[in-house]
Amino acid sequence: VGRPQREGRPRAAIVLVGTELVTGLQSDTNGEEVARALMAAGVRPSVREVLPDDLEVVAERLAELTAAFELVIVTGGLGPTHDDVTRDAAARALGRPLERDAAIAAHLKPVVERHRHPAAAEQVMRQADVLRGARVLQPTTGTAPGQLVPTSGGHLLLLPGPPHELRPMLTTALDLLTAGEGVPPRILGCVDIPESDGQLAAESALAEHPGVGLTVLARPSLITIVLFDEGAGPARLDRAAEDVVSALGDACYADDDSTLAETVIRSAAGRRLTIALAESCTGGMIATELTTVSGASAVFVGSAVTYADSAKVRVLGVAEETLRAHGAVSSQTASEMAHGVRNLTGADIALAVTGIAGPAGGDARKPVGTVWFALDAAEGTSVTHRLFTGNREVVRSRATAVALNLLRHEIDSRAVGDP
Ligand code: ATP
Repeated sequence: VGRPQREGRPRAAIVLVGTELVTGLQSDTNGEEVARALMAAGVRPSVREVLPDDLEVVAERLAELTAAFELVIVTGGLGPTHDDVTRDAAARALGRPLERDAAIAAHLKPVVERHRHPAAAEQVMRQADVLRGARVLQPTTGTAPGQLVPTSGGHLLLLPGPPHELRPMLTTALDLLTAGEGVPPRILGCVDIPESDGQLAAESALAEHPGVGLTVLARPSLITIVLFDEGAGPARLDRAAEDVVSALGDACYADDDSTLAETVIRSAAGRRLTIALAESCTGGMIATELTTVSGASAVFVGSAVTYADSAKVRVLGVAEETLRAHGAVSSQTASEMAHGVRNLTGADIALAVTGIAGPAGGDARKPVGTVWFALDAAEGTSVTHRLFTGNREVVRSRATAVALNLLRHEIDSRAVGDP
C-alpha cells in the first residue's frame, strides 16, 4: 500500500455519515478522533464533512473527494439496515462492483441464524459485501468489516460508526498506509503570551526551516503551536521545534504536547514538592486542571474554594479587618488566603486567587478582570496583580492559566531534589 503524498504533504478528507449527525441528534466524536489519529500518524487532515444517510449525496461527494484527496476516510453507514448506504455509495463513486467476501459471510452465518424475519439473512449478509480490490479490515467487536480501497489518487477507507469498532481498524489502516513512516507534528504549549506574538516568533524562527508548516491555536492565555512536516523530514522538524522553543523563550512550557497542568505536576513531583490552593473567582478550576493529570495525588494536597468573605475568614483565617480595609479582591486578602491554606495543609507551596470575573461587581478602582494572585512558601509570600480582558468565562480561564504558570515558575526556581 503506497503512501498518500502530494507536494510533500499527505492530504486527507474525513467524512462522517449519519442523518443523526447532520441533524444534531447525535454529536460527532469520530471526526475528532480520526483527525487526531491522522495527525499522530503524520497525515494532515484537510477537510471534515458530515453527510446524511442518503445514497445519492454520499456517492456524489465521495466521487469528488476521492478525486481531490490522497486519503478519504468515511465512518458510519456500514451496518446491515437500509439506511446504511456507505458501501453502495462508495461502489458507485469509484465505479467498482461489490463482491461478497466468503470469509466474512461465513463469520456472519451465526448472526443470521439469530434472526427470525425472512429478509434478515440478506440484510445481515450485506455486511460481507466489499468493494472489488479492497483490503478487508476484520472487525474485533462488531460485525461490519472496514475496507481500505485503492483509488486512482490514493485510498478510500471505510470504517464502521461505533467508536470502539473503528478504533482498531483505523490503527491498522494508518500503519499500512504510512508504513510507520509518517512524521507526527511537534506540539508546543505557550502561556501568557499574545497569540500574534507567539505566531510571529514562530514564523521568524521558521524562516530558516523550509518544509515545516505552522498552525497556531489560541485559548484564553494559552496558545498551542503546531509544527507539521511539509517535506522537512523528522530530523529537520525537530531542529525547527528547538529554534521555535528558543524564540518563544519563557512563555513556552512544553514541547511534547503536555498540558500546563501536566508540566506543573511533573516538575513538582520531580522535586517532591506539594501544592495547595485557595480559590475564589476560579471556583475550583485550577484544582480541576491539576486533578485531571494522572499522578496528581503525589503533588496536589487540595483546594479550599472560599467564595464568600465568611469562608475566607473561617476556613483560611483571613482577618476581618483585612477584608474591611482592603476588600476581598486585594493583595492583602490574596496573601492571607495563600498563607492560610499553607498553614491548614502543610503544603510546600500555596497559591491563592481572588478576583472580579464579572459581569457585575467591578468599579472604577477595581474593574472587572482585576485578579490578585499570591504564592506562599516557607521563604515568604509574593503577590501578582493582573487586569484581564474578556467575559466571565474568559477571565476565569485566564486566571487559571496564569495561576498554573505562577506555580510553574515557583517550582522551576527550586533545585531538583531540594524542596
Ligand atoms: P453498525 O454496524 O453498528 O450499524 P455502522 O457503520 O452502520 O455500524 P452507524 O449505523 O452509522 O454505523 O452508527 C452506529 C452508531 O455508531 C451510532 O448509533 C453512534 O452511536 C455511533 N456513531 C456513528 N457515527 C458516529 C460519529 N461520527 N461520532 C460518534 N459516534 C458515531
